[in-house]
Amino acid sequence: MAIKIQKWDPDRHCYEPHPYPSEWNVGFFSTDLDEFINCAQCGKKLPYGDAFTSRELYNGSGMFAMAICPKCHEAEWKREKERRKKR
Ligand SMILES: [Zn+2]
Repeated sequence: MAIKIQKWDPDRHCYEPHPYPSEWNVGFFSTDLDEFINCAQCGKKLPYGDAFTSRELYNGSGMFAMAICPKCHEAEWKREKERRKKR
């Protein structure tokens, strides 16, 4: 089951489609924290237990944030801080 991912554009306040390779196993919820998923940003494999919640990527309905790796989480946080500085 492929999840549709959309990316929140904070400057334009709208979502944009965020395509990813079909072999990636992306996700936003799992009861099995040992299951391996791909980071929805960079594709890095990691167990759900180590994943962070994205501030930029959401599922098709926009209700759930995608799981991402710690590195991308840090990058998202930096981007957000930069944006706040500009205001
Ligand atoms: Zn990543």
